Amino acid sequence: MNSNPFDLAGKVAIVTGANTGIGQGIALALAEAGADIAAVGRSAAAETVEKVRAQGRKAEIISADLSSIEPVERIIDETREKLGSVEILVNNAGIIRRNDAVDFSEDDWDAVMDTNLKSLFFLCQAAGREMIAAYEADGRIGKIINIASMLTFQGGIRVPSYTASKSGVGGLTKLLANEWAAKGVCVNAIAPGYIATNNTAALQADESRNRQIMDRIPAGRWGDPSDLGGAAVFLASTASDYVQGHILAVDGGWLAR
Ligand code: NDP
Repeated sequence: MNSNPFDLAGKVAIVTGANTGIGQGIALALAEAGADIAAVGRSAAAETVEKVRAQGRKAEIISADLSSIEPVERIIDETREKLGSVEILVNNAGIIRRNDAVDFSEDDWDAVMDTNLKSLFFLCQAAGREMIAAYEADGRIGKIINIASMLTFQGGIRVPSYTASKSGVGGLTKLLANEWAAKGVCVNAIAPGYIATNNTAALQADESRNRQIMDRIPAGRWGDPSDLGGAAVFLASTASDYVQGHILAVDGGWLAR
C-alpha cells in the first residue's frame, strides 16, 4: 500500500486552460505528483503536454472552447477514451473584462459569466456524475478544484461580471460540496492572489500600480503559477479526503492584511 497521501500516481486529471499561467502551473504540479493530464483549452497546450510527458506521465490535448457548454460532455468522453475516467477536475479557464459598472455591456457580462461560471458548473456536473458512479462502483473519491479569486471574498472595482462570476464559483463550490460530500466527491476551491500571468501582464507593466500591489502583499512579491501547485496537489490527493467546500487562499497573505 502506498503510504504517501499526496501520491497521484495513476490518477487522471482534467485541467482547463492548461496551456499557460495558473493552469499550466497546476497541470505540471499534478503530473509531478503522478497524475496523467487532459489539457483542455482553445489554444494548443503543446508546451504543457510536452513537459508533462517529460515527467513520465501521459498527457493529451483536448481542444474545446468553454465560452459555451457545448463541448462539456465531449471533454469527459474524450478524456475517458484517451486516458481513463476523470478522477480530478481543475476548473481553471477564465477571462476578465474591465469597465465601469455604469458602462458595462451585456456582451462583457455574458462572456465572463459563460466561461467563468456556466461552463464551470456544467463541467462539475458532468465530471461529478462520473465520479459519483466510480465511488458507488469501487469507493474511489473524486476531486474537483475550482479556481476562484480574491474577488470571491472582495468587491474589486471595474470588473462587475468577474466579481459576480468568482463569487458564484465560491457559492457553487460550497453547494456541490454539500450535495456530494456523502457521494464520494470532494469539491473545493483555490483563490489565487496576484499571480504573474498573461492575465495580469498589464498590471505588472504599470509601474505605479505594480508598486501599490507589491506594497499591499505581505509576502512582498507577485505569486508565480508554480505557487499554486502545492495547494492543488493537496486538494487533489487523499490527504484532503475530509476537506469539503473550502476556499483556500494562495495569496502571499493578501486577504490576511
Ligand atoms: P491566463 O490568461 O494566463 O490563462 C487563462 C486560461 O484560460 C488560458 O489557458 C485560456 O486559454 C483559458 N481560457 C480562457 N477562455 C477560454 C475559453 N473560452 N475556452 C477554453 N479556455 C479558455 O490567466 P491566469 O492563468 O492568470 O488565470 C487562470 C485562472 O485563475 C482564471 O480563472 C483567473 O480568473 C484565475 N485567477 C487569476 C489570478 C491572477 O492573478 N493571475 C488571480 C485570481 C484568479 P486560451 O489561451 O486558449 O485563451
